[in-house]
Amino acid sequence: MGSLKIIILGPPGAGKGTQATQIAARYDVPHISTGDIFRKNLREETPLGLEAKTYMDNGLLVPDSLTVGMLKDRISEEDCRHGYLLDGFPRTLAQADALVGLGEQIDAAINLQVDYAPLIERIAGRRVCGNCGSAYHIITAPPKVENVCDNCGTELYQRDDDKAETVEKRLVEYDEKSKPLVAYYENNGLAKHVDASAPIEDVTNQIFSILDKLA
Ligand code: AMP
Repeated sequence: MGSLKIIILGPPGAGKGTQATQIAARYDVPHISTGDIFRKNLREETPLGLEAKTYMDNGLLVPDSLTVGMLKDRISEEDCRHGYLLDGFPRTLAQADALVGLGEQIDAAINLQVDYAPLIERIAGRRVCGNCGSAYHIITAPPKVENVCDNCGTELYQRDDDKAETVEKRLVEYDEKSKPLVAYYENNGLAKHVDASAPIEDVTNQIFSILDKLA
């Protein structure tokens, strides 16, 4: 299997990162998370990271001018020649248009559908590994040893922007700027809706049954 170009859409906390890890492994494509790339740049204090920081800290989207260039560089790397999974991109209509402008032909846009109400709680319990990117939840998906990554043994942390006050702003930002992407990908026939309020494994299975037909 391989050669799939997949997008995963959904509000913050819908489970994009968790599902993206499973999808990338099954279809053997790189998992490209623009949020992870920004966080890495932030940790390393690169010019891009420093520019993105104010937006991220405030729960706002980083401007398209910065984000599109970064994504373009990433997908032009060798490992993306036979497909990729984009997690957190596009997040605006302009970013979706930029992908078209780059000549990228997407096979599917998986849309994780969830009610907003449980999202704040889901996000508040999220803990992530800064080393390998694995994500956990203190109640629904805890690591084997408290606060330690199962994969690499690194101590887990809570993202600054996962704190309650920022989460609400991220949801507003999603509603205004990213939600229109659902209609955009419905109009071009690529949207595949998935009920993401189901247990994690059920959501994964729904996604696999859609993507298996395309692989
Ligand atoms: P995420 O890990 O996908 O939730 O992203 C964390 C933060 O990084 C977002 O709240 C934005 O500030 C920024 N970010 C990630 N991806 C994008 C994108 N495609 N466009 C603009 N900002 C982004």
